[in-house]
Amino acid sequence: MIPLLDLVAQYNAISREVNEAVQQVLSGGRYILGPNVEALEQEIAGYCGTDYAVGVASGTDALLLALEACGVKQGDEVITSPYTFFATAEVISRLGARPVFCDINPDTYNLNTDLLERLVTLRTRAIVPVHLYGQVTGMAEIMELARKHNLVVVEDACQAMGAQQYGKKAGAWGDAGCFSFFPSKNLGGCGDGGMVVTSNAEIAAKIKKLRHHGTDKKYFHSLVGYNSRLDEIQAAILRVKLKRLDEWNNGRREKATLYNRLFKDTDIVTPLEVPGSRHIYHQYVIRHIQRDKIMQILQETNIGCAVYYPLPLHLQEVYQNFGAKPGDLPEAERAARETLALPVFPELNRAQVKFIAEKVIFALTQK
Ligand SMILES: *Cc1c(COP(=O)(O)O)cnc(C)c1O
Repeated sequence: MIPLLDLVAQYNAISREVNEAVQQVLSGGRYILGPNVEALEQEIAGYCGTDYAVGVASGTDALLLALEACGVKQGDEVITSPYTFFATAEVISRLGARPVFCDINPDTYNLNTDLLERLVTLRTRAIVPVHLYGQVTGMAEIMELARKHNLVVVEDACQAMGAQQYGKKAGAWGDAGCFSFFPSKNLGGCGDGGMVVTSNAEIAAKIKKLRHHGTDKKYFHSLVGYNSRLDEIQAAILRVKLKRLDEWNNGRREKATLYNRLFKDTDIVTPLEVPGSRHIYHQYVIRHIQRDKIMQILQETNIGCAVYYPLPLHLQEVYQNFGAKPGDLPEAERAARETLALPVFPELNRAQVKFIAEKVIFALTQK
């Protein structure tokens, strides 16, 4: 059996250090917004090349608080991808704004930047590019468009910590960048957590207030905020893991390179790594019209695999009132039918990658 992801293998490799870090928090007695959160914020700002980082309770809250701090409000339109985890659009709706979905580029599964400008209206306030599967969207084009139309850019970098484009990290391009520490992410905690990075002092200060009931002075409230703070235990664990993130991301990249080679003489479409881009393979996603056959054979062989995502957001029940129909965003819909994520976690060995690739290729010979 090969799982899609093996978090126990990761823990076993670093258990002494993680246990010690947790033990120190427990005996220290500060459990929320203490020294580990502050240190992690500095370390992640340094890692991403931004001036500030603010820890929050989840990746979803990172997006919600960042958009709110950037001024997104009731009645605004926010352009984003239809091919992402639901939270990306959910937070836009939660603020009373409307998600406007732009179709994706079939090669990268990220926003097709050529289609963006025609969606800009007088109500458009922001763009939320999603760096899907761990590759940065075409940020140079998006930032240029945003400047031209005076729009805010909040990056959904939840799957992309450590990814780069032209040497600039995911999260450092826009007005704010959002990360998730959900356990399955490349940098994952042992529970929920998230972070916003920014080089804008005002945005950082506002998110700090929003995460803590709209206050920066105890019992004096200048905003209506949230309870959305990062735990010390999570921060302590994440600090242990952050030191290894680049090594782990390199491990994922090695597996991806091996898969690419093994699939080279087949009609399986492998992920495109855009020139100048450093993909960190949160997911290694292949495309084939016989996706369901491949999935069936892998499941029968006890190899983990998954479809991210089976129904694009414009066709979700919750957004039926927008009136979108099948066929409106054809590339997102085709990706939902044809793509499959294979195991790519750093602890996977080369023999396992070869075994998985053989089974995928074998599936295509089956009726
Ligand atoms: C994981 C994820 C989120 C949400 O993060 P949580 O920490 O689970 O709230 C948002 N957007 C994308 C693209 C994600 O992958």
